[in-house]
Amino acid sequence: MKLEELPRVEIVQLPTPLEEMPRLSETLGVRMLVKRDDRIGLAGGGNKGRKLEYLVAEALEQGADTLITTGAIQSNHARQTAAAAAKFGMEADLVLVGSEPPIRDGNLLLDDLLGARVHWVAPESAATADQEMGRVAEELRQKGHKPYIMPRGGSNAVGATGYVQAGLEAMGQLTERGLEADRMVVATGSGGTHAGLLVGARMAGFGSQILGIAVSRPKNQLIAKLKGLVKAIVEHLEVTLSFEDRDFVVYDDYLGAGYGRPAALEREAIRLVARKEGIILDPVYTGRTMGGVMDLIRRGVVAKGETLLFWHTGGFPGIFVFKEALL
Ligand SMILES: *Cc1c(COP(=O)(O)O)cnc(C)c1O
Repeated sequence: MKLEELPRVEIVQLPTPLEEMPRLSETLGVRMLVKRDDRIGLAGGGNKGRKLEYLVAEALEQGADTLITTGAIQSNHARQTAAAAAKFGMEADLVLVGSEPPIRDGNLLLDDLLGARVHWVAPESAATADQEMGRVAEELRQKGHKPYIMPRGGSNAVGATGYVQAGLEAMGQLTERGLEADRMVVATGSGGTHAGLLVGARMAGFGSQILGIAVSRPKNQLIAKLKGLVKAIVEHLEVTLSFEDRDFVVYDDYLGAGYGRPAALEREAIRLVARKEGIILDPVYTGRTMGGVMDLIRRGVVAKGETLLFWHTGGFPGIFVFKEALL
C-alpha cells in the first residue's frame, strides 16, 4: 500500500523541530543541525513513537486489545509501547531481557507507572524473548484477549514506515529553509530507524549519505539487517527504489564495552552538547552516536565544513539510570 494510504493513528507531535546547534558547530568545525525526535511526546519522547503510529494502527485494525513487545531492561521502545497502549485503552506486556533489578528506575519505573506488565527472561538469546512473547500471547488468547506482537525496537516494515515518513518530513524542512545536508547521522540499534530513513530520504531525492553509528552489534550484522529491512519496506510501500552496497554505511568502532555500557566517549559527548546547546543526549544511543561523529570529524572521515543532520532519537529516562558513568 502507498505511504499515504497506510493505516496510521496520531500518537506523537509532528513535525518535530529541526534546529541549528551553532555553538556546538563552532566547536566541532561542522554545521550540525539536530532533528528533535526527543521532543516528540509520548511519555518522555523518542523515536519509537513514530513507529508506533503505524504499528498501533495495524493492531487496532486487527482488533487487538493488548500490545506485546520485547527489549532490554531500559528499553525506550517498551516504555513508549506501554504509553501508546494506555492512550488507546489497550494493555501492554513487555518481555524484558535481563535480571530484574532491585529498584525500578528510568524507563522501568515509567513502564510501571504506565500500567504495563513486565516479564523477565535471562539474557542468553533473543530467541528466548521471542518464545516468551509467544507464550504470553498464547496465555492471553486462552483468556479471550487479542494480542499484537511487535519485534524488538518495533523494527519491521510496518514500524520502520514511521521513519520513511520522518525522512520525508526532514527533507521538507531542509528544503523550506534552503538548506542541504551532506549527511544524516543516526544511531543504529535494531535498524528500523536507519532503514526507514534510507527509504524516506531516497524518496525525497536525498542523494547524500545516511551514516549510522552502531550501538549494539557489529556492522556486518547490522548491514545485513538493514538490507533486509529496506527490501521489506520497499515492498510494503510498493515503491521502486534500488540501493547499492555503498548506501549502507555503519561505523562500529564505538561499541566500547557493549550495548548499554556508556563510558568516556558518551560522557564527553553528552557533556559537550549539554554545555554548548542545553540539549541532553542519552547515554545508550545518541550520546554514543555523537561521540562517534566527533571522533569521525577528528579523524577527517567527516570533513570540516560539512553540514550534518543529527537525529536526536530520545532516550532521556536513561540519563538517571546511568549516572555513575556520566558524572
Ligand atoms: C531504539 C532507539 C534508537 C535506535 O533505533 P532503532 O530503530 O532500534 O535502530 C536510537 N535512539 C534511541 C533513544 C532509541 O530508543
